[in-house]
Amino acid sequence: MTTTTLASTTRLNPVRRTLPVLLALEDEAEDLGRLSPDDRLTCHVHGRWIHQCVASPVHVNPITRHRWCRSCATALTVSVDELSGAVTMSCPRCGHGESAASARLITACRASLAAARGGTAARAA
Ligand SMILES: [Zn+2]
Ligand SMILES: [Zn+2]
Repeated sequence: MTTTTLASTTRLNPVRRTLPVLLALEDEAEDLGRLSPDDRLTCHVHGRWIHQCVASPVHVNPITRHRWCRSCATALTVSVDELSGAVTMSCPRCGHGESAASARLITACRASLAAARGGTAARAA
């Protein structure tokens, strides 16, 4: 198990928080400048855990390079294994495409997977 990189910001302790509760907490913390959007475990656009909607095209950003391979100008393919907790991203063209932004996104996805398991399995859309 890897630890998250949330240490420098306010630690919200997502364990045992339900999705709607954590979503609201993270919205507030982000508005107050205490939480980086990269460190969120929930997605305010989709209203889901980040690992549940990270495959959406909305989560691709060529500027920040979230889920983006610059060499190939291609969105990275996301693989989320809810059973093992494994989250990977790779470019469908070159097989690489790593970036600091994508690494952070992967970290957030792993943390949200763990948080979703710890709380209620809120899978409803
Ligand atoms: Zn989303
Ligand atoms: Zn590539």
